Amino acid sequence: MTKRSSAKNGSYQGESTNAVHGGAPRDKGFHAMTTPIVQSATYAFADTAKVIEFLEAKVYGGELDREEYARYGNPSTWSLESRIARLEGAEDAVVYPSGMSAVTSLFLTVLRPDTHIIMTDDCYRRTRQFCETTLKKFGIDTSIVRMGDYDALEAAIVPRKTRFIFTETPTNPYLRVADLRRLVDLAKQNRVMTLLDTTFATPVNLKPLDYGVDFVMHSATKYYGGHNDVLGGVIAGDTGRVRALKDARGIFGNVIDPHQAFLLERGLKTLALRVRHQNESAQKVAEYLESHGKIDRVYYPGLPSHPDHDIASAQMEGFGGVISFEVAGDIRATSDFIDRLRIPYIAPSLGGTESLIEQPAYFSYYDLSSEERLAIGIKDNLVRFALGIEDPEDIIADLEASLKKVPAAARMA
Ligand SMILES: *Cc1c(COP(=O)(O)O)cnc(C)c1O
Repeated sequence: MTKRSSAKNGSYQGESTNAVHGGAPRDKGFHAMTTPIVQSATYAFADTAKVIEFLEAKVYGGELDREEYARYGNPSTWSLESRIARLEGAEDAVVYPSGMSAVTSLFLTVLRPDTHIIMTDDCYRRTRQFCETTLKKFGIDTSIVRMGDYDALEAAIVPRKTRFIFTETPTNPYLRVADLRRLVDLAKQNRVMTLLDTTFATPVNLKPLDYGVDFVMHSATKYYGGHNDVLGGVIAGDTGRVRALKDARGIFGNVIDPHQAFLLERGLKTLALRVRHQNESAQKVAEYLESHGKIDRVYYPGLPSHPDHDIASAQMEGFGGVISFEVAGDIRATSDFIDRLRIPYIAPSLGGTESLIEQPAYFSYYDLSSEERLAIGIKDNLVRFALGIEDPEDIIADLEASLKKVPAAARMA
């Protein structure tokens, strides 16, 4: 049976070694090499003495080496969590059935009424919605600050009220990169916590905990799972903070299904291989797009033209697999360009084996008018391209064939 406490289990230097061997013990029971999907809602005790032994450990903080009830833990889940902790360089980690479940649980656990949080402006739309609707109902105010404006960030801090600063890095869709040293210094001086959503970076490209960030979270649906086939969420941090989150999960009831945990663990074994390939492909594709006459602008932190190129180069191992760009044309010319592509699926999401492409004007902001979208910086001709693991030469040939057909006259007036 998988040990619930992960601290003593394997830890290695390299990412892929940790992804394959880290955390969980080698003996998974039944001589199985893979972690079994333990499909059990509850767990039996041999006798009352065993119940007492377990409760002594649970209540007074001893070593827990068994399960009790599936809302409090499952061997498939503990194994995944210990492995994620290794990858993030964290003391512990907790998984959730989706990224949004991770975000909302974190906020609800850490926040108190009449407090205040700060978030940067190009954060995931649902996260922002949660702050502006649910948190607002509980008397928690959110200040939205422009990404990259550290003076505004500091000015937004309300003494004794601001609990944390939340940001993403790189952000969606413009791939802005937060300067973590600056962010953490500023937060520590003002005694506020830092919460980072680094879904787009993955621990392969960035380990925010090394910079002193308090919590790192991911939508594991993206790179961690990596195959566009499972939802999941991850939070990593120090033991005490993660324990508070696990306790809250036992109350909220937002536990991951063991089959979901199995798929995520299988996915993360190849995380580093996939992400390094995606870094390389994205760099090639971004350079190709930037040199193309029918592309107005490319946003990719690996390009010197990106406003955060210097900080990204200093801080990240790679620049990630997502590129945003503007086609030299109107909303229709842009959607026609997308429709002609053969390789990427037209779909939301990112980070999987299949390349996905979307036009944010339609996908995330269909309910807004063209002017309203422009006011929040989403142009009609903007495209977000999340690379899969296909060969970059094929992707470039596909883009080339479609760009050739973008009419020269389609450029907006
Ligand atoms: C997808 C995503 C989320 C939400 O995660 P789900 O797994 O879809 O619930 C949160 N943050 C970022 C940056 C994302 O890309």
